Amino acid sequence: MTDLHERYAASLMNTFGPPKLALVRGAGAHVWDADGREYVDLLGGIAVNALGHAHPALVEAVTTQLQTLGHVSNFFTTGPQVELAEKLLELAGGGPGHVFLTNSGTEANEAAFKLTRRTGRTEVVVAEGGFHGRTMGALALTSKEAYRAPFEPLPGDVVFVPYGDAQALAVAVSERTAAILLEPMQGEAGVVVPPEGYLAAARAIADEHGALLWFDEVQTGMGRTGRWLASEGVTPDIVTLAKGLAGGFPIGACVGLGAAGELFEPGNHGTTFGGNPVACAAALAVIRTIEDDGLLEHVTVLGQKIRDGLAADPRVTEVRGEGLLIGLDLSADVSAHVFAAALEHGFILNNPTPNRVRLAPPLVLTSDDAEAFLAAWPAILDAAYAQAGS
Ligand SMILES: *Cc1c(COP(=O)(O)O)cnc(C)c1O
Repeated sequence: MTDLHERYAASLMNTFGPPKLALVRGAGAHVWDADGREYVDLLGGIAVNALGHAHPALVEAVTTQLQTLGHVSNFFTTGPQVELAEKLLELAGGGPGHVFLTNSGTEANEAAFKLTRRTGRTEVVVAEGGFHGRTMGALALTSKEAYRAPFEPLPGDVVFVPYGDAQALAVAVSERTAAILLEPMQGEAGVVVPPEGYLAAARAIADEHGALLWFDEVQTGMGRTGRWLASEGVTPDIVTLAKGLAGGFPIGACVGLGAAGELFEPGNHGTTFGGNPVACAAALAVIRTIEDDGLLEHVTVLGQKIRDGLAADPRVTEVRGEGLLIGLDLSADVSAHVFAAALEHGFILNNPTPNRVRLAPPLVLTSDDAEAFLAAWPAILDAAYAQAGS
């Protein structure tokens, strides 16, 4: 495996730092490395592997579609493409709308960003601490200085306001504002949950000024929080999706509801791969499995159990999130040590900030795996705090 790490360093651009593991196989919520070590995957490819690894329904859908019709250009359409668009509109509340399909989250946000320009206004009001992707447009909407600074100048007319502060939003938004962009929970920030009523307040503020309300549900959407959309109950004009949508097959979607779905005209936007029938068949298989296996309910119940278990340790100062999107704060800046100690114990998790841990396991995570993790949790923290010498 050293060999693979050396070859990686010699052949792949160094954007991610050295890989933590070289993985060879997965099944359900479990993955194996090249030395045969088994891990419970509590990160799920960063909220992507909704059905875990190698789920038969996903394998079968992709295989069958690829054997039948793998790619056509967007001069043509296919059954899976139309069926997926219809299904996404149904899951987004059932009203009229139109979908633009992409290959990733950042592309879904690029499409949405361009869509907002079609209002005739240019300003976008965005929350600090949010993450919307790495392409130039999506990056312009992402506040993190370390991500932005090396790539200035970025597309302009973006105004940042503190997340969760409805008053600040009300002050910032005006008749100049094309759109308000918010994550229902900030995933990359370590699962930051806004105060009750924040999304509804954003809806009212957008309406008052004729601005669009755009929710980035790339991470929170498609059952992750125990609901199809984490924003359920507040209807946006635009919702962007990706990560879990096709359970690991690359896809993204920009869903425009009502009039927002009609802002693009022919020639305004495009993609070669977006909306290809294999990705759409994969997404349909994921959605069907979530429905048929009652996974929303499972996610809700199991997520609560995990949050309660994690919070029981006094070194955990706060636990946040819903369903299987879980973030927690530690009493010290030891999250990198927690990551390493968890790996030693056979669990993959994520350390988005120095004192925060994030879990986004497959929606099919079993109670047994969750219990095994909670049983190991105090020992993982013991090891991490000892390592850190704090
Ligand atoms: C991951 C993420 C993105 C970017 O998606 P990519 O597929 O990595 O381009 C955008 N928005 C949110 C909220 C995300 O979590």
